[in-house]
Amino acid sequence: MYDPNNIFARILRGELPCHKVYEDADTIAFMDIMPQSDGHVLVLPKEPAAEIFDLSERAAQAAIRTTQRVARAVRSAFQPDGMSIGQFNGAAAGQTVPHVHFHIVPRHADRALRGHASEPQSPEVLKAHAARIVEALRQLEGEARS
Ligand code: 5GP
Repeated sequence: MYDPNNIFARILRGELPCHKVYEDADTIAFMDIMPQSDGHVLVLPKEPAAEIFDLSERAAQAAIRTTQRVARAVRSAFQPDGMSIGQFNGAAAGQTVPHVHFHIVPRHADRALRGHASEPQSPEVLKAHAARIVEALRQLEGEARS
């Protein structure tokens, strides 16, 4: 059962703010407010679905397409050694917000991750990180067109 008042549903309706880095007809991507590393982004299909099992094939395709696109920009902006891309289904798997989302988490060989959903980042820092990702997306899409 989908809860239409979960935090991400409210962000999708514009009732709560977010630091958005990308949006199209089917998906949105914004900064995680408790990032496990700098540049931690969440990608959501707009379709109301709590878990990946509930998503239509079209929404699943759109979500993974946006995840790849935004992950490329995060990689370009933050130059990590690697990147974790993950998605949790159900409280037992660590899901805390019941609207499907993909985590894009930059990884650095010499730095441990911060805890999951545990350390809020300041709005100023999130805004600056979002701007770096938006600029990287702009550059990458410009390169793809030329
Ligand atoms: P989950 O545990 O469901 O896989 O991930 C939920 C994520 O959403 C966590 O990483 C948590 O830090 C993040 N989060 C929780 N509340 C908010 C919020 O209000 N805004 C944003 N941008 N992220 C949130």
